[in-house]
This record gives sequence, C-alpha cells and structure tokens, in this order.
Amino acid sequence: MYDKNNIFAKIIKGEIPCEKIYEDTEILFFKDINPTAKIHVLGIPKKPCSDFSDFIKKYDKNTISNFFIITERVIEKLGIKNSGYKIISNSGKDGGQEVPHFHIHILGGERLS
Ligand code: AMP
Repeated sequence: MYDKNNIFAKIIKGEIPCEKIYEDTEILFFKDINPTAKIHVLGIPKKPCSDFSDFIKKYDKNTISNFFIITERVIEKLGIKNSGYKIISNSGKDGGQEVPHFHIHILGGERLS
C-alpha cells in the first residue's frame, strides 16, 4: 500500500524543497540530503509506487524504459559516465529502504568501496 504522505511524495508535490538535477512531467532527479559519495543523486518516477517491484508491476513498458533512459542521460549530465558510478535501489526491510517511494541512488565522483 502506497503511503501518499511519504517525504518523496511531498517533494514531488513541491511541499518540501530539493536540489533538482533534472525534472520532467514524469521523473525527478535531485541531490540526496545526506550524501554518502561526492556525487549522490536520487531518481524517482513521479507516479506513486512504493518500491522497484511496485514500479515494474504498476506501469507500462514505456514509463519504465523512459525512467532508465533518462537515468542514463542524468549520469552523462553529472559527468560520471566515463569515471564510473553505482546505481542502487534499496527495497523493503532487509534492503534498508527508508523512504517508501521507489527511488534509485546514483553514486559517483570518487572511488567507491
Ligand atoms: P533509502 O534508504 O534507499 O530509502 O534512502 C532514502 C534516501 O533519501 C537517503 O539517502 C536520505 O538521505 C534521502 N533523503 C531523505 N529525505 C530527503 C530529502 N528531503 N531530500 C533529499 N534526500 C532525502
């Protein structure tokens, strides 16, 4: 069950500010408030979905592929395409997910362990 009042839902609605990297009608990329790497950006679809599986199950192929195509463009925009990066999506309790709106972390800008 999607929690409509989670913090990323509030960011999407503009109720909470964020440092935007990329935005269109469907997708938002913004800086993580508590970065764990020199570059730490979060990417979210604006449509409600609580985690990776929920995103894949609820939406059509166009929506899903567009999210990952834009992710690749954002990586290029961040200037880390050649130096390397990690894409992580935490899911559920064992995955350590804190915010129950599907998101990816893009980490880079330095050598990551
Ligand atoms: P996760 O454990 O994958 O759910 O990670 C949630 C991430 O959201 C963490 O890295 C937090 O630092 C980040 N975060 C929480 N609140 C905000 C916010 N208001 N703006 C930007 N990032 C946030």
